[in-house]
Amino acid sequence: MGARVVDGTGSSARASVTIVLRNGLITAVGESDPPADCHVIDLAGMTLLPGLIDAHAHVTSLGDVPDELRAYGLVQAMSDLLEAGITTVRDLGAYGDSVWRLRDAALLGLCRAPRLVLCGQVISATCAGAKAFPGMYREANGVAEIRWAVREQASAGADVIKVMSTGALTVAGEDIGPPQLRREEMVALVEEAHRLGLPVASHAEGADGIRLSVEAGADTIEHGEEGHLVPDALAAMAERGTILVPTLSVFDHVAQSDAYPGWMRDRARRLGESARLTIQAARKEGVAIAMGADAPPQGANAQELVRLTDAGLTGLEALSAATGISARACGVDGLVGTVEPGKKADLIVVDGDPLSDLAILSAPRRLWLVLQDGVATAGYGAAHVP
Ligand SMILES: [Zn+2]
Repeated sequence: MGARVVDGTGSSARASVTIVLRNGLITAVGESDPPADCHVIDLAGMTLLPGLIDAHAHVTSLGDVPDELRAYGLVQAMSDLLEAGITTVRDLGAYGDSVWRLRDAALLGLCRAPRLVLCGQVISATCAGAKAFPGMYREANGVAEIRWAVREQASAGADVIKVMSTGALTVAGEDIGPPQLRREEMVALVEEAHRLGLPVASHAEGADGIRLSVEAGADTIEHGEEGHLVPDALAAMAERGTILVPTLSVFDHVAQSDAYPGWMRDRARRLGESARLTIQAARKEGVAIAMGADAPPQGANAQELVRLTDAGLTGLEALSAATGISARACGVDGLVGTVEPGKKADLIVVDGDPLSDLAILSAPRRLWLVLQDGVATAGYGAAHVP
């Protein structure tokens, strides 16, 4: 009780709120006193929010962790995410089958992990990216093979289908201009995914790929940095509820790292500026924007929120991006993403007010508590929870 609450719906913060949790669920949110049978935690001076949701991550991209130790690296990455208040993560491209094994292990209680929303492998045309990231892509050409590839990911356990509609800035020899898939292939992919009840996340950097993805019915546009060049596509996104995941962090990560060649760093810098123009144009058009960092290290994800506000979002809009809207992007908005009765108690408590300083969300020792299904999984205040 006594918490400042930012509920993730886009409503402004409310002061001195009591949230009642039972059996892992939020059962009441309001001003009244807590029921007599409850263990009460005083949250004066703190802010309670939905657990943060990263809608674009690659959790099996572990840098230079040796192959034989990758399982341990993955467990550490999961722990880092939880310690950073990320209670749901959508992985949009994993190596081999490691991500399915991770989910199995988490379900068995062998490791702690955020709620995992998985695509498995990325479906793409034959392309240079598949060689640059061996094991992460499922190349498919022609309508029949595209449908086959969608069914493969679905049968492996995918929650979402990820497709490369354009080349990637981090791949030598790839151009973000011409779409990699033909219109009939994109349409077939979206149709097959939707028929199976799965949303589609489309990697679309260049203007033509963004327009094609939107017209084919993709549910989220990943990166989308040339969106400001196709206002008709942004208008269609606003109308249909297609969500933009701008991933500003990945442009800065590549631009600032010596590990990448000069030409790639220049390209990242240029496209990062373009992505910021798209955020302004998308916001003006009423396009929903979600948080996705798409960059290492796991645990620094919420730095994306500082970048989103530098690019023109208000603090409240950035927090909605990381909660309610990211939940929608991940297809888990019926479960989490807002502080409302009936939702699962995936919540975080921060020491201070993130609306006046979003950087505290990724600062050490400011995250007081992380709850998953009502159970304390991280934060130095965890000892206060029974
Ligand atoms: Zn990505």
